[in-house]
Amino acid sequence: MSVTHAPQTADVLTRQDPELAEILLGELHRQSSTLQLIAAENFCSPAVLAALGSALANKYAEGYPGARHHGGCEIVDVAERLAVDRAKSLFGAEHANVQSHSGSSAVLAAYAALLRPGDTVLALGLPYGGHLTHGSPANFSGRWFDFVGYGVDAETGLIDHDQVRTLARTHRPKAIVCGSIAYPRHIDYAFFREVADEVGAYLIADAAHPIGLVAGGAAPSPVPYADVVCATTHKVLRGPRGGMILCGGDLAERVDRAVFPFTQGGAQMHTIAAKAVAFGEAATPAFAAYAHQVVANARVLAAALADEGLVVTTGGTDTHLVTADPAPLGVDGRTARGRLAAAGLVLDCCALPHADTRGLRLGTAAVTTQGMAAKEMERIAALLAGVVRGEVESVRAREEVRDLVGGFPPYPA
Ligand SMILES: *Cc1c(COP(=O)(O)O)cnc(C)c1O
Repeated sequence: MSVTHAPQTADVLTRQDPELAEILLGELHRQSSTLQLIAAENFCSPAVLAALGSALANKYAEGYPGARHHGGCEIVDVAERLAVDRAKSLFGAEHANVQSHSGSSAVLAAYAALLRPGDTVLALGLPYGGHLTHGSPANFSGRWFDFVGYGVDAETGLIDHDQVRTLARTHRPKAIVCGSIAYPRHIDYAFFREVADEVGAYLIADAAHPIGLVAGGAAPSPVPYADVVCATTHKVLRGPRGGMILCGGDLAERVDRAVFPFTQGGAQMHTIAAKAVAFGEAATPAFAAYAHQVVANARVLAAALADEGLVVTTGGTDTHLVTADPAPLGVDGRTARGRLAAAGLVLDCCALPHADTRGLRLGTAAVTTQGMAAKEMERIAALLAGVVRGEVESVRAREEVRDLVGGFPPYPA
């Protein structure tokens, strides 16, 4: 077996550092022999992996194209301009900053661009699917800003718009954040814009999850509504691990300065080149078809899980994301995740709105990249429920998983 997506690197590694090469092959094997249902993960293309493993990894490039603090940036400047131009055209944004090292750094930079420590920010509360950067006391956001959390309706699981409006009027936040790690439905960006305008707040969309669906036209875009859009490039978007910020021309300079030099040093040029590759891929009709298939698969998966007796949050999904409570099957989310992991189904737990126990969070981005469709989603749901109920033992489940993924290699030889 060889690392088919970067053969030269793999050969060099195998010769020079067999110990580490073995680890890399082990991980490739794990990814291709178990079911990848973590909602934030995907399989990026061999071209993206090639850019990540390129000589651009050697280059120091503090600053921006045409204005660097280091010599020898003439080539990487072209790479970054390409990434920026492709991001702008893909999302119809006036400005794109493609340097953020991660989604969290992008959010940090967005706050740095618009806020001062001590400002009030309104965001989805963490128990309802807010990210750590939306006010967790363990994160810079909770320490430096005064966060107020909105929630979701206890019955429907949908964002409580009345509460958002009331909290905004009461607390007069400097910024409102919309975006989540677990919310399976479309976000009504026009609504958030209206509330932000009413109270004079900036609107920050943290679209880390749905931005890939936006790129493929399978989810509404926050770009026309938000002052600043933060995103990751490695989730549904299927690029390298990293972040990105989109905004209007009026905020371009503030956002750029907030990324570098305020929150980061040298840009990671190999990652930026890989982002350019991913933006190029995401602009194709094939990617649009992929994004729509991701959602279609998630809908089938959600319905099949509901048929198996799990309580699917909001009763379904508009996106790649499904969250569900396995309690009716007799176990809580944590126990279920453990059983599933032993069986080769890899997924996360998540907070469940208005519940004490944890639920399961799944996504269809990775399995859809592998080529799976409705039939496989139904098979996955049946297997998942059988394992969670304790009806299918791990050994048999592992065989079934191997049989299932065997037909859909993420990196065909
Ligand atoms: C994934 C995610 C992030 C953080 O991205 P990292 O690259 O892990 O730092 C931030 N916000 C939201 C809503 C996310 O889903």
